[in-house]
Amino acid sequence: MQILDGKKLAKKIEDNVIKEVTKIKEEVDVTPGLAVILVGQDPASAAYVSMKKKACDRMGFYSVSHEMPEDISQEAIENTIVMMNQNPNIDGILIQLPLPSHIDTTKILELVDPAKDVDGFHPYNVGRLVTNLDGFVPCTPLGVMEMLAEYNIDVKGKNCCVVGASNIVGKPMASLLLNADATVEICHIFTDNLKKHTLNADIILVGVGVINLIKEDMIKDGAIIVDIGINRAENGKLVGDVDFENVSKKCSYITPVPGGVGPMTIAMLMSNTLKAAKLNAAKKIEV
Ligand code: NAD
Repeated sequence: MQILDGKKLAKKIEDNVIKEVTKIKEEVDVTPGLAVILVGQDPASAAYVSMKKKACDRMGFYSVSHEMPEDISQEAIENTIVMMNQNPNIDGILIQLPLPSHIDTTKILELVDPAKDVDGFHPYNVGRLVTNLDGFVPCTPLGVMEMLAEYNIDVKGKNCCVVGASNIVGKPMASLLLNADATVEICHIFTDNLKKHTLNADIILVGVGVINLIKEDMIKDGAIIVDIGINRAENGKLVGDVDFENVSKKCSYITPVPGGVGPMTIAMLMSNTLKAAKLNAAKKIEV
């Protein structure tokens, strides 16, 4: 069994981003800029925003965070997005999800300029992903694909079982795998007999939010396991959706939690923001 080391690969990607940022700063005087919108006091969301801010500092990006109270109006969030869309120093806009229930999340995500949609959640970019055209791809599944490529795991023709079907994890994960010529099954909470599906898979990619959902009797010998879940166990430790201790004895590759997909998500956010900065700079030169 081999560990898919997301922490190590994320560091490699971030080192490359730093090199490229230094280069574009020198050559075209461009500093990538990321704006983050955080609504409310959810500790997990606040922790993610703080990690993203620290990553921006490490990469030499310009970053601003708009922290708003839980009872903020739809209009106030929308006004901030419009401002960020127009701000030439901002290349990427990230709305930390989930938003409070009185907010229309779809409307908020649709308001982000697709050229600044570094999370890849705008329907324009979702459409481009599904049709296998270049655009912004959600960071978590993009990070998974990078990790598989780093370990020379070719998904072409492989049976892949994606467990979890959210817009930010499962669906884009399935699209990326399909675009890479895998045979893809998507399972979710209403899937009957999950085990029947996972047992058939060469690669299982699970992002659900249920501790120990995937157990050793649910995987075939030598399967590749990508654990996207992040859960807080009773003892306070971070764990994924896979029973790591037992599954790791039977699989060929596995991502640990923490240190697997999580660090890759941040690295891909930095990489997407750099991509946006380059595209936005090229547009300014054309004008
Ligand atoms: P979500 O609640 O939006 O979606 C969960 C999905 O899992 C749904 O499609 C649901 O049908 C499915 N599901 C729930 N229970 C299930 C069960 N018992 N069997 C099969 N399917 C089931 O959640 P999300 O935002 O997609 O996040 C999923 C997990 O991934 C969470 O643990 C989250 O913390 C984690 N996550 C990790 C990263 C990262 O960087 N590693 C990024 C985003 C989300």
